[in-house]
Amino acid sequence: MSDSKVRVRIAPSPSGYLHVGTARTAIFNYLYARHHGGKFLVRIEDTDVERSDPALVYNILEALNKLGLVSDEEIILQSQRKDIYSAVAHQILESGHGYCCFCTPEQLEASREKARAEKRPPRYDRRCLKHTEEDCANKIAEGVPFAIRIRIPEGETTYTDMVAGELKRQNTEIEDFIIARSDGSATYNLAVVVDDHQMKISHVIRGNDHITNTFKQIHIYKALGYEQPKFGHVPLLLRPDKKKISKRLGDKDVAEYLNEGILPEAMFNYLCTLGWSSKTEREIYTVKELIEIFDSANFNSANAIFDEEKLIAFNKQHIMKKPTIELAPIVSELFKDKLGPDNGNMAANSEYLLRVIDSLKERVRKLTDFVSLGAYFFKDEFDYDQEAAEKQFNSENAVFLAELAERFEKLSEFSKETAEAELDKLADEKGLKRGKLIHPTRLAVSGMSVGPGLFVLLELVGQKRVVTRIRKAVDFINSNM
Ligand code: GLU
Repeated sequence: MSDSKVRVRIAPSPSGYLHVGTARTAIFNYLYARHHGGKFLVRIEDTDVERSDPALVYNILEALNKLGLVSDEEIILQSQRKDIYSAVAHQILESGHGYCCFCTPEQLEASREKARAEKRPPRYDRRCLKHTEEDCANKIAEGVPFAIRIRIPEGETTYTDMVAGELKRQNTEIEDFIIARSDGSATYNLAVVVDDHQMKISHVIRGNDHITNTFKQIHIYKALGYEQPKFGHVPLLLRPDKKKISKRLGDKDVAEYLNEGILPEAMFNYLCTLGWSSKTEREIYTVKELIEIFDSANFNSANAIFDEEKLIAFNKQHIMKKPTIELAPIVSELFKDKLGPDNGNMAANSEYLLRVIDSLKERVRKLTDFVSLGAYFFKDEFDYDQEAAEKQFNSENAVFLAELAERFEKLSEFSKETAEAELDKLADEKGLKRGKLIHPTRLAVSGMSVGPGLFVLLELVGQKRVVTRIRKAVDFINSNM
């Protein structure tokens, strides 16, 4: 298959939001397509009406889009293709590769129960295989409901997995599974094969929980005489406690992480390391770089751990790397959301905002930290960090702070250099260590005990506001001591 024929897909079922595992598999497919100059497609597997919610389709697509995982062709919705699946199910039946099953749900359950009691795997016992063509026609004419099963031939099934290598299964382990239910609806395995064939999918890269389905699907391909795609089953993502990732255990979906301040490119980069490796020491890559180096020989087969702390560490690196000008529109929105839209200094093109971002960029772990660590740049009202206030706010420091405000006010030019020189001068005159003045000053001007270098902070907040804030802190100390 030439590179240009590479066509891959991600096929989320809209029974939940975009799971990090699905996003990871989408990323692998996307990188495989882009690396080979092929196409990346999206298909929504919404045939299970009970579990599929149309509102979730939108959320899944939105989260995929934010990660840059946009379908190269029209998105396929399985719910709109029922007639196509039904026709193919009948084609399998008529070709002799399938047969009608008239067993009732009660009969099937009883035989499963018996198998369990006898400690056998609960596989279909093929009792409907005995019906002659005439029997079947009569029952159908009488209106007896029936499902269509595929008939699995004797022997064994093998295929070469892109990740796991050669895999083999005895056909006795693959039951004659249902491809169309008695209400006419297609089962998952039939719909997937029909779609992958019609979408000309060349490589099916998906989670290794689908290996059992692959052995079934191969028989559908064979029954229909379709060319099989290459299959690659990538490891599942697990929680640090090795359990499956689950909403019920409090695990977040992709949109939640992005809303909480994870950059899409950091999410993309981190997820890419779960089940695949660049085989180098380097961890931080741009999407463009990943497209270049993505080699399917470097998939791992061991299950991978999704660790939120590691994701945040990737995020920190990506934030530091991202040009301030590109962070500005995102951070601007975050400030406006939290503090109100009216402050012109928060605008994405404001010089002041760019400087605020620069001052905090090395410290934030999430985008939302810009707001929690930097609200005082825009807002004069804030509380003092309680622990720091207990340490730094006392009557002795109030005297120094009052003196410092006085001196700052008199400076004809207020910059980080002049502010620093003035603070140093005061410390010298009073025989104090710089720290003795620096800590209470920071607390007075920002309400916090951590942040950018104090003098950068002072220059940014500006002379007038610095003086006002220091005096306000002095009043606070005096009225609380
Ligand atoms: N809808 C399936 C899932 O969400 C994907 C099936 C496939 O990739 O073939 O797990």
